[in-house]
Amino acid sequence: MEDLTSLVNKLQLACTTLADNDVGSALPTDWDELPFIAVMGGQGSGKSSLLEAIVGKDFLPRGSAIATRRPLIVHLFKTEEGTKYAKFLHQPDKTYEDFAEVSMEIVDETDRETGSPYGISSVPIRLSIFSPNVVNLTLIDLPGLTKIAVDDGSVSIVQEIENMVRAFIEKPNCIILAISSADQDLSNSEIVNISREVDPKGERTLGVLTKIDLMENRASVVNILEGRSCRFHFPWVGVVNRSQKDININMDIISARCREREYFGNTPEYKHLAHRMGSEHLIRSLGKHLESYIKTRVGGYLFTKSSIKSTVIKKSMLQSYTLRAYGTFPTYHVRTEGEPHDMYFECTVHVQSHKFVS
Ligand code: GDP
Ligand code: MG
Repeated sequence: MEDLTSLVNKLQLACTTLADNDVGSALPTDWDELPFIAVMGGQGSGKSSLLEAIVGKDFLPRGSAIATRRPLIVHLFKTEEGTKYAKFLHQPDKTYEDFAEVSMEIVDETDRETGSPYGISSVPIRLSIFSPNVVNLTLIDLPGLTKIAVDDGSVSIVQEIENMVRAFIEKPNCIILAISSADQDLSNSEIVNISREVDPKGERTLGVLTKIDLMENRASVVNILEGRSCRFHFPWVGVVNRSQKDININMDIISARCREREYFGNTPEYKHLAHRMGSEHLIRSLGKHLESYIKTRVGGYLFTKSSIKSTVIKKSMLQSYTLRAYGTFPTYHVRTEGEPHDMYFECTVHVQSHKFVS
């Protein structure tokens, strides 16, 4: 599984690099066939917290207003022990080892594009994180859906955010992490309604219930987690992220994961569900979803002509792109960056099984 997800991740990065010229579009066009995961939820529901829990690092800006104002595409790459750094696509020569600086750069780069500390934009920021504590995934943090216009009172912002979110989650290759906080009424939830609208069979939606620790009425939470109310195709995963107080006292994510595990394991009402609760379970679940997506769809699909014909990628990346896939494909010529004599590089797609070969 690691190999397949890692391959898809690298391809996504390559397509993202390629699409950099096309800054006006929310999503690189070549993403049509590559699976990715997007977090969708109301403002303050815990999307950014969940993303940090998955990544195992603090790297996202927080604030009282809309902290996420541009889509943030995060490619996670698993590395050897001891190697941890981040890079932005808009700063190819800069490597970040201090993740607090990553957070500051996200804010600065958001402001550069939107021109104000409140503006929003559908142009994504692209970040790669290399760490031994992650699984190879591509995740997108999206601005939170809201019904109330913030700060400058612009009603159009409300609609603009919804359109932006829809542009991502309507894609059939998007695995939707539908985030809802447990203290919100799910029966009339916009998040649930939109997810059902774009994915009526629920095949690519995973519901995540945050802030379970804040709920006194545990029986109602158990009803959701056991699928008696507000059912999706896949069962809801409950999580306990860090509260604002935890963040203020600098609780690190590894301790938070540990506390979360103990919380589900030791709370009498949730104990019997503990094996399928928490961010660690969610990470494994996401990996499985991605794997099954790749197996069912990508095998004969990934290297269609459209996904490869205009791809400009580095030769070093390309070496990992030879894939055995279903069907019969011609050999594509792919332009590479670098020395002029390296301008054309052959990418051969063999046809037999979808096993990744290095
Ligand atoms: P976003 O707007 O959806 O990205 O929400 P954030 O991740 O920024 O979270 C909003 C606030 O809720 C922050 O102060 C978080 O610390 C807090 N929060 C998020 N998840 C949980 C949770 O599971 N439990 C508790 N107690 N607080 C949470
Ligand atoms: Mg956020």
